[in-house]
Amino acid sequence: MDDATLAEIESALGQDGVWVAPELRSEISPQDEHAVEQAVAGSGTPTFVVLTEMEYADPLTGSFDQLAALIHDDTGRDGYYLGLPVEPETLPLEVTSFPEDLDAYQAARIAWFDHPEDVAAQAAESVELLDGGTDLSADYDQRVEEDPRAAQMIQDAYFGGGDSADEDGSAGGIWLGVGGVVVALLVLAVVFRARRGRRRPVATTSRPTPTFALPATVVRSVRAAETRAREEQATREVADLGEALDRAPLDPELTDAYDAWQSALDHYELARRILDRSHTPADVVGAIVLGRRGAEALRAAERGRRWVPGSPCWFNPLHGGSVRTVTWTDPEVEAPACADCARQAEKGEEPTDTLEFVADEATRAYFRLDLGVWSRTGFGALEPDLVAALTNG
Ligand SMILES: [Zn+2]
Repeated sequence: MDDATLAEIESALGQDGVWVAPELRSEISPQDEHAVEQAVAGSGTPTFVVLTEMEYADPLTGSFDQLAALIHDDTGRDGYYLGLPVEPETLPLEVTSFPEDLDAYQAARIAWFDHPEDVAAQAAESVELLDGGTDLSADYDQRVEEDPRAAQMIQDAYFGGGDSADEDGSAGGIWLGVGGVVVALLVLAVVFRARRGRRRPVATTSRPTPTFALPATVVRSVRAAETRAREEQATREVADLGEALDRAPLDPELTDAYDAWQSALDHYELARRILDRSHTPADVVGAIVLGRRGAEALRAAERGRRWVPGSPCWFNPLHGGSVRTVTWTDPEVEAPACADCARQAEKGEEPTDTLEFVADEATRAYFRLDLGVWSRTGFGALEPDLVAALTNG
């Protein structure tokens, strides 16, 4: 999915609350769409329905909750968001809500039992159920209890009809009754876990490494506060860059400026995507670095200049630009460093304000952890084109 499509979706949701992808037109007619729009219009709770095919490989639409979070982030519209599951597409619709409503997904399941083959009807009924003010979990439990075929439907949806049911349904009898429901729910839990495991984190987390000991609780609370503060800082700085990009006057005749502006935009988008998805403390530092570089590129663009990324301090990219390169031995690297870090490193000391993260309940310098592209590039210190490094993995 590209940003133009995302903007189109956000605009359509602002008008009537429903967006249907062109490629789904053969399955969802304009009349179907109209029925969903009417359900949304009749609902007392803001509800948004996005019917578009989801793909694991797409960084924008890796799952519906990611897409919904992105739309919510862009538009600020609270409410329920309904969309298609990634796969199999015959499963109930996904429901995400802002603020979070942990029972909301039960509405989609009930609607799925009622209209297993009809996505638009599921969407319309889900919208009505979500607005109904009833206890959805209790409704769902009652539905399964009263109609044992519900358990069979779950089984079939995940694994196909298979051999468990013949034409008169007698072999399907093993799924009848409470035992069957319990088995089906266990199967469901396993499948959900497997699906969750397939999501790709932006960067890998640390690998266990032997380390010196610090009181675990102290480490955890200090680092947790630091992580929260950095998260807020990253969110603020990246949002500021986005606003500055919106305001920036741009003369397309000035090609150097245009390239710099494009770099600023690339850095901004990457930073925002990192923050919109599930991320590690290292990702947050990466987003801050990307945001600052983007701001630097934008300043160059505004002066009509070209922009070439510089190297931040390798010991701690949050120190800003490096002033000279020092030879470091653990690990072996010619490290661009800020003045303070360079001075300490040249005396053979590890700089006191090295960027650290918690691993195995103790702190370790980020460059001794396996943080994927972050440790490999030193947050851009060793490989200045961080956008290319991140995009190409
Ligand atoms: Zn430094």
